[in-house]
Amino acid sequence: MKIVTVLGARPQFIKAGTVSQEIAKHKDIKEVIVHTGQHYDSNMSDIFFKQMGLPRPDYLLGVGGKSHGAMTGQMMEKIEEILLREKPHIVLVYGDTDSTLAGALAGAKLHVPIAHVEAGLRSFDMKMPEEINRILTDRVSTWLFCPTETAVKNLKNEGFPFFIYQSPITNRFQLITNVGDVMQDAALFYKQYAKRPENVKIEDKFILSTIHRAENTDNEKRLRGIFEALEEIAKEKQVILPLHPRTKKLLQNYSLITNNITLIDPVGYLEMVWLLENSDMVLTDSGGVQKEAFFFKRPCITLRDETEWVELVDIGVNKLVGADKEKIIKTYKQFTNNQSPITNHQSLNLYGDAKASKKIVSELLKAS
Ligand code: UDP
Repeated sequence: MKIVTVLGARPQFIKAGTVSQEIAKHKDIKEVIVHTGQHYDSNMSDIFFKQMGLPRPDYLLGVGGKSHGAMTGQMMEKIEEILLREKPHIVLVYGDTDSTLAGALAGAKLHVPIAHVEAGLRSFDMKMPEEINRILTDRVSTWLFCPTETAVKNLKNEGFPFFIYQSPITNRFQLITNVGDVMQDAALFYKQYAKRPENVKIEDKFILSTIHRAENTDNEKRLRGIFEALEEIAKEKQVILPLHPRTKKLLQNYSLITNNITLIDPVGYLEMVWLLENSDMVLTDSGGVQKEAFFFKRPCITLRDETEWVELVDIGVNKLVGADKEKIIKTYKQFTNNQSPITNHQSLNLYGDAKASKKIVSELLKAS
């Protein structure tokens, strides 16, 4: 069996880590990796291939740093050529980026069945590029590998599973399975290799923060609100913030000065795992980091108006605060004063049993 995996952005390298390891255990599957180039800086891409032990990409498309339309279109054109040459049985895509959508559309139009890891997630905000990418990718996929029960419910509410053409694999309808979250597999597997970041002065107690979502970076008022709050918090406790290249650019564009926050370059996954494990609290607008805070038992303040990971909000370990300075500071104080441990919630198995990668590969093998 031949699988073409299309990836291109940081969270996808992390999600692919344990799945590719699992694929490699099966000598009868050949994985061909296509890296679209959506993220291309070495600390946003190469380092993850090294740290996660991902096979070197077979194809590098070099399509990065462009508008959504230009990137998606150029990726599709190149992926189509590769699929015609490689003739895979399956195209495997992860998450919700332009690379995900380009891989899914190129494959579906050539009638190659698509496997979507992280299917069914919804923010219900169609202004988010990620939401558009997810919905369209789900619609054309054969395997919908959901990370949570909520994701399965979202699909059912939208009328999934849909009829797709008759094939020996599908029995005509899309296959929806809750396999659990591959990011949990990654967190648990790679934590044994966690590495303290070098060249950063780290205090005993610190807060970890990441900001990169377009809804925050592309809106000066929101980015200002968030950074002013972090500046205030940093007067009391160190705030370490590995800065995404897009956020770095926009901070400069808006002339936003930060004196108190410890801004560092993006770190590798092993350093990120160390920071998560050793932090007191996480403030983020990242999808992945919200869950990782939970996996490492840290409370999380989410700098967005909605989240796809609603389970965490329901059990109270994640607070949605948007980008309002006062609300962020108030919630930080509440969490600080009321540090209820979140240990007990692990038994809820919200994200499965950390065998998502295994389940995905064994489902795909049924098609061979
Ligand atoms: N991450 C990392 N280094 C960093 C910041 C984030 O390794 O400097 C990891 C993080 O632990 C998570 C993933 O990148 O696994 C999340 O990616 P991102 O926040 O870019 O995307 P999202 O999850 O919001 O799609």
